[in-house]
Amino acid sequence: MDQFERLGQLPLRDDLRGQHPYGAPMLDVPVLLNVNENTFGVPADAKAAIMDAVAAELEGLNRYPDREFTTLRQELASYLGHGLNEENLWAANGSNEVLQQLLQAFGGPGRTAMGFPPTYSMYPLLASGTGTGYLEGVRAADYSLSAESAAEQVRRHAPNVVFLCSPNNPTGTALGLDVVKAVYEAGEASQTIVIVDEAYAEFSKTGTASALSLLEGRPRLVVSRTMSKAFALAGARLGYLASAPEVADALRLVRLPYHLSAITQATAVAALRNSTSLLANVEQIKVQRDRIVSELTDMGLTPAPSDSNFVFFGGIEKPADVWAALLAQGVLIRDVGIAGHLRVTAGTEAETSAFLTGLRAILAG
Ligand code: PMP
Repeated sequence: MDQFERLGQLPLRDDLRGQHPYGAPMLDVPVLLNVNENTFGVPADAKAAIMDAVAAELEGLNRYPDREFTTLRQELASYLGHGLNEENLWAANGSNEVLQQLLQAFGGPGRTAMGFPPTYSMYPLLASGTGTGYLEGVRAADYSLSAESAAEQVRRHAPNVVFLCSPNNPTGTALGLDVVKAVYEAGEASQTIVIVDEAYAEFSKTGTASALSLLEGRPRLVVSRTMSKAFALAGARLGYLASAPEVADALRLVRLPYHLSAITQATAVAALRNSTSLLANVEQIKVQRDRIVSELTDMGLTPAPSDSNFVFFGGIEKPADVWAALLAQGVLIRDVGIAGHLRVTAGTEAETSAFLTGLRAILAG
């Protein structure tokens, strides 16, 4: 009996039967460029500060942590700027949990969330886990999404929640703020919560604006961020959002008590107080990202413009074969299941070279 047959014997919810879990391969190979982590690791001074902060928490570990994680919310607000304060901030164990809490509060049975595929693969899974219906909007053939098209689709479907991923995963491209504004206005009649998922915002090209600048006067707008990418803290699990204070009040109704451990809070606060050091590699990652775009173009491939730390590229006849051939060379990238395309994370210069050299050889041979 295989895993799925065994699962089928349990009294699982009908709507979860036959579903597949999030499953990016976790393989032990030298060059890991498949889940858009920051491959530079945590700098020594930030590591020392985090160690001290965590050590200081151990004494009180018999007690529950600050349920309101006030210090962390203050530090997040001061990192984001834009006139935000702790009332505007909320956090959870990764932005995945933030998004899940948003669906618990604003989605749920009888309600719908909408995304614009190809986009972050967790949106439909989070919807299904929370019993929320999921509607798939459409993009143009080049994967772009115009303000007119997005607004028209939101008006037509009147979802309770909309996900706008910017920069978008897996395509890497950021949305203009005109799209966010148009979608927000289109959702007025249906009182749609508009979530702009800015997990990769720190990697944006100069001149790409954040939806944080639109929060003022828009109580249904939520901007989601994470410390998993630019901050190189994927293992610490800290995601957060900025919004009107009443959104955080809604999430207080669905979060588990003490959901952020004292260790997580201490780690994140120490990291934010050392943000200059932690974010120091962002520029180098952007250089490697731009290098990937330009070298893939030279190889005759078609990379999408990227504001993130990864590149989505087309022109690959057999993506699964190229993915496997790269893996055989110790380079793990991502086959996102889109015909003719693959996605690669921008790593260190050496990791990026390993990918580019490997790919060139595969395409030549
Ligand atoms: N949003 C997007 C667009 C992502 O790509 C990811 C991670 N791959 C997340 C959210 C969730 O990241 P985390 O839970 O680590 O914050």
